Amino acid sequence: ETQREAVLDALDNVAERLAEEKEYLTDLDSAIGDADHGANMERGFGKAADKRDEFAEMEPNEVVKNVGTTLISNVGGASGPLYGGSIMFASQELEGGITAETSVAFAEAYLDKVKDRGGAQVGAKTMVDALVPAVHTYKKSIEQDDLPPLEALAKAVDAAERGVAFTVPIKAMKGRASFLDWRSVGHQDPGATSTLFILEELLETAE
Ligand code: ADP
Ligand code: MG
Ligand code: MG
Repeated sequence: ETQREAVLDALDNVAERLAEEKEYLTDLDSAIGDADHGANMERGFGKAADKRDEFAEMEPNEVVKNVGTTLISNVGGASGPLYGGSIMFASQELEGGITAETSVAFAEAYLDKVKDRGGAQVGAKTMVDALVPAVHTYKKSIEQDDLPPLEALAKAVDAAERGVAFTVPIKAMKGRASFLDWRSVGHQDPGATSTLFILEELLETAE
């Protein structure tokens, strides 16, 4: 299987999962936002997955870049530019192909862009709370512990899951949920949750 096919399979799996989780993500967003996160994610990744034929001749990094631009043009609100712009930006790191090394660079560039654009740090009850532990765990597992990418990704998924749980008891400091002030406490962040679902599907595809 080529890297391009692996990327296209991952995209299909992510789109399918987000469609399955549409209602759940909508419920999470209805508690502390405007109840559109499920629809946003389903529409954005669905449109990207629909372009499979267009993507068939592209290099893996170009496919990833086009997923980003598709999200930007089809998803508004906070999550469209954050997911789309960051995927687009980080895709540069995959220009030489997908290896353990370039995947770490991709993950770091993605996280940097999300933090840079959104201005959220850990503890603001956003997707950053899932991403930071996931990316740090992935990088450490590969660079320090010499684990194969698949095992590193499995550890990153576990870390993201803990990050999602961490969003429940904290107060939102960024995004719509922050308008609720203390009333956001006790609710799980939608964007951290969709981030976890995407990571789970990347792992599932790689296995
Ligand atoms: P909107 O809030 O515009 O309706 P979505 O509902 O699609 O957009 O996405 C909401 C999610 O976006 C939140 O759950 C949170 O994880 C994420 N988010 C919102 N603002 C920020 C930010 N400034 N930095 C990082 N993530 C953010
Ligand atoms: Mg919303
Ligand atoms: Mg919205």
